[in-house]
Amino acid sequence: MKLATVLLDGLQRVGCISSDETRIELLTEEWSDLVDIIAAGINTAEATMSGQSLPLSSVRLLAPIPRPRRNIMCVGKNYLEHAKEFARSGYEAGAVAGKDLDEYPALFSKLPSSVIGPGEKIQLHPTVTQKVDYEAELAVIIGSGGRGISRDEAWDNIWGYTIINDVTARDLQKNHKQWFLGKSLDTFAPMGPWVVTSDEVDAADLDVTCFVNGELRQQANTRDLIFDIPTLISTLSAAITLEPGDIIATGTPVGVGIGLSPPTFLQSGDTVEITISGIGTLTNVCA
Ligand code: MG
Repeated sequence: MKLATVLLDGLQRVGCISSDETRIELLTEEWSDLVDIIAAGINTAEATMSGQSLPLSSVRLLAPIPRPRRNIMCVGKNYLEHAKEFARSGYEAGAVAGKDLDEYPALFSKLPSSVIGPGEKIQLHPTVTQKVDYEAELAVIIGSGGRGISRDEAWDNIWGYTIINDVTARDLQKNHKQWFLGKSLDTFAPMGPWVVTSDEVDAADLDVTCFVNGELRQQANTRDLIFDIPTLISTLSAAITLEPGDIIATGTPVGVGIGLSPPTFLQSGDTVEITISGIGTLTNVCA
């Protein structure tokens, strides 16, 4: 099932996307927040259809979780060829800078306020950064959550998947040592176009592509993750209780702007289009 969060007549609603992706069947108004639905369990959602079916073109898609309740949890350097391009780029700060393979996953977070939906504009913030980059990523949406989730239990604790563009100000990422600031600027977490429930895709085998202005920049498969999804969930949950609707961005493959020769950063008017097989396409234009 694909569930989207949309704006209809000024109200936020959640609905199921039809298999041909042309229509949306809305849930009742009381289930207008995907995190509430996740916390209640998917059967609740199935039981609360409103009976209202609309052309998808008649509603505005929002991010599936427009304002996450906690920071988006993210991992850096999680595809080998990207880890190499980042290590060589000169934009990595800190004592481990320049290493291709990290012993432990590099975990950081993005503020909930950085989230925007499909079709919304990415602000480039030219007064604070001149080096804004894209990062196509598979995002995991946690289901029931909990603490001490083992690798074996991890898959069963995933509610669904979506796409995140982990937009990054490379100069801030380097200058401020910690990645938080350069990753959390307003509009730096485009998300969508919807969430696909975990029963519908094999997240260990999904193709990820990213086009900028129609030019292929990133192309990889999630089987190449260095720290796989069960490892990320078990690592994060070891002593942090994961909550329903928590979001984990799993890292980006090779082909970001700093890896190009010469390095190429996003400019006003650029279109970033990320597709993940079995999920969909997330498109955003830079303001
Ligand atoms: Mg990233």
